[in-house]
Amino acid sequence: MRWCPSSVLHLLRCVRLRPCIRRGRNRLPLWVREIWAYMSVLAQSLYFNSLTDSDVVFDSVFEPLFWTVDYVTRWFGTVFVFLVVILTSSILAIAYVVLLPLVLNTYSPPWIAWHVCYGHWNLVMIAFHYYKATKTAPGYPPTEKNDSPFVAVCKKCVMPKPARTHHCGICNRCILKMDHHCPWLNNCVGHFNHRYFFSFCLFLTLGCVYCSISGRNLFIDAYNSIETNYQTPAPPYTFKDKMIHKSIIYMWVLTSTVGVALGALTLWHAVLISRGETSIERHINGKEIERMAKRGRVYKNPYSYGKLNNWKVFFGVEKKSHWVTRVLLPSGHTPHGDGLTWDVFPVKKDLIPV
Ligand SMILES: [Zn+2]
Ligand SMILES: [Zn+2]
Repeated sequence: MRWCPSSVLHLLRCVRLRPCIRRGRNRLPLWVREIWAYMSVLAQSLYFNSLTDSDVVFDSVFEPLFWTVDYVTRWFGTVFVFLVVILTSSILAIAYVVLLPLVLNTYSPPWIAWHVCYGHWNLVMIAFHYYKATKTAPGYPPTEKNDSPFVAVCKKCVMPKPARTHHCGICNRCILKMDHHCPWLNNCVGHFNHRYFFSFCLFLTLGCVYCSISGRNLFIDAYNSIETNYQTPAPPYTFKDKMIHKSIIYMWVLTSTVGVALGALTLWHAVLISRGETSIERHINGKEIERMAKRGRVYKNPYSYGKLNNWKVFFGVEKKSHWVTRVLLPSGHTPHGDGLTWDVFPVKKDLIPV
């Protein structure tokens, strides 16, 4: 069937007229022929223009699956947040009820000071960044008419999209400098909460590593005690002892597992931040690198200002003391820029002279 892509009306006319033209030789009922014609147009819309590639076809075929995942993630967001709070609180309860008395009774004063100071600093950093990451809006493009530059129009919102903005299917709106939608935060990670997200991952990983390293010997003792329990006829441990052993094993297994998994994720995000990319841009830039390589050219990310400057921009470090006050202490400062317009690297090579 031939049809003109320039006019939707013409297309609809084609669909409606086709059964009339062939009436003489087609004996199928009209409604079947209409559905057939509609399905053919739908199928042809997949390879409608020259820009259509395997990705578009893949996206279209798996659209129902993506929709289901988005829908489930949206509704389970609160459950995931609840899970994070419950698991973290359980570790905290074990640390205060089981570990702290043990540390106070058996450790030397310098070690007591280290555990109390480090443990509480790490806890404050985790709680602050998690709260801020979940409660801070990632940043949305303006909905009113404005003069800010845009690079595309969102098909879903039918609104102009500034550079680095992407549409989130779960939030169902466009997000400034979107990185990804995080179910553990029940929020999108974008321009205004990217730093909180990364710091939360970093400090939670540090907390997990701290717990699994400092609780390693306790874990081995607790594990051995449970092992010997089955072999000795009269177990020497009271109910309280057994509960302590089980809590230590639970804490060590959970913190070690989360430490490894979250550590890998944090490391990956650290690589992306060093390159001045978001998770989505990593995917886009990868394709761009390939496309340019085929033409014998090298693609350079326009939002990368050099490794160190990328970190300074990310953490909002404008002077040396900010490495302490804005990175190692809780800080609610807003990120560099408004998320609508971006400085590109040829203009600002030495972005912040620290
Ligand atoms: Zn959108
Ligand atoms: Zn989202």
